Amino acid sequence: MSTRTRFAPSPTGYLHVGGARTALFSWLHARKHGGRFILRIEDTDIERSTIESVNAILEGMTWLGLEYDEGPIYQTERFDRYKEVIQQLLNSGDAYRCYCTKEELEQMRAEQMGRKEKPRYNGRCRLGAEPREGVEPVIRFRNPVEGAVIVDDMVRGKIVFNNSELDDLIIARSDGTPTYNLTVVVDDLDMGVTHVIRGDDHINNTPRQINILKALGAEPPHYAHVPMILGDDGKRLSKRHGAVSVMQYREDGFLPEALLNYLVRLGWSHGDRELFSLDEMIALFDIKDVNKAASTFNSEKLLWLNHQYIMNSEPEHVAHHLSYQMGKLDIDPVDGPDLVEVVKVQRERTKTLVEMAQNSVFFYRDFDSYDEKAARKNLKPAAVEPLTDMLNNFKALPEWSSKAIHKVVVEAAELRELKLGKVAQPLRVAVAGGPVSPPIDITLELLGRERTVQRIERAIAWVWARST
Ligand code: GLU
Repeated sequence: MSTRTRFAPSPTGYLHVGGARTALFSWLHARKHGGRFILRIEDTDIERSTIESVNAILEGMTWLGLEYDEGPIYQTERFDRYKEVIQQLLNSGDAYRCYCTKEELEQMRAEQMGRKEKPRYNGRCRLGAEPREGVEPVIRFRNPVEGAVIVDDMVRGKIVFNNSELDDLIIARSDGTPTYNLTVVVDDLDMGVTHVIRGDDHINNTPRQINILKALGAEPPHYAHVPMILGDDGKRLSKRHGAVSVMQYREDGFLPEALLNYLVRLGWSHGDRELFSLDEMIALFDIKDVNKAASTFNSEKLLWLNHQYIMNSEPEHVAHHLSYQMGKLDIDPVDGPDLVEVVKVQRERTKTLVEMAQNSVFFYRDFDSYDEKAARKNLKPAAVEPLTDMLNNFKALPEWSSKAIHKVVVEAAELRELKLGKVAQPLRVAVAGGPVSPPIDITLELLGRERTVQRIERAIAWVWARST
């Protein structure tokens, strides 16, 4: 049977890091085995599901490049099918109507707790119950009372659940709507899912789902329960640990490949290797090698990976993502050098695309003011002469190239018997507004002659205005 995996988020929030990792593992497993990856939106909880959240999940999947072969399939469009299966279970005797009232169930619970027993349904309606006036029944699955369910989990190994520990769970509420465990089972069955890869918060649902599948005459899929992700304080990863929505990483200037590479390493390793292209991940990933223990999120490492990807990816690819950040700063890249060239000169020195965009704005737009400290240090009256020399030579250069620009800067230093830095740094502050830019000759070449000339003139005027 060919491999079929699914990612089945509930649309009650954005796509967070934990969900994205589960999706990645499922996606990798399908890709590795030449199978298919399905996206299923588990939106039956009408109160908590939102369309914004559905969109956020789809957006996150698209940005990460986790393309799905089937779906999105919405559970809310499948109510008729769930009803059909519930009826099938009623007909076969594997489910029954339960007329116990809320009050009765609460009392049952209180008594069990009083006896220090685990609260569970005591099976009162299991042997047949008469309809009761004014009570809309729920439908319960008739769980086997004997034997055990053995889950041979691909991550956690063998887990045994005694049926005596499982009670008869509700599969349809009194309003007829199906519950989570029922919908998952029907969907995994109908969609031919062969491998269920999901968070280990679902582990206790698994024996129940297997029992329902068996009652339906189906062979249960393989399961892999992936451990949770902790924040660096050892607590479960949450908003407190900073950006946990996948799209927040886009906002913060991360490349999707860097995040994917980071996520695959959360709980999985291949020797001591850190960098994996998508193709390498597909070739090397094995769900069986995922750690049983929880993994800890490390923002520093993610940043390091992002830097690696910024430096080593195709500049065109980085430029594509950089343009998003430039857009946020209201920069239209047609107003200056080709973004690909900017990436080439900036990539060594920036860890995020936000930083790269901020450090590149001066190529496209005049700055309002100089960095105060840099200007105080570099834009002094003593800088006016070399700046003026360079200004005149720049105007006269037959060709605007970094080589020719470099020569002008070196000659300006020699002429005034100054160290190169004493000439180059005032020039840098004049054109970039601050003390940091790529090498000055390349910076000016990209900036263009017209802007260079204007900015040097502006800097000279600024020095005069301050010194009189
Ligand atoms: N909808 C469930 C969740 O978001 C996942 C169910 C599953 O993967 O089986 O936690």
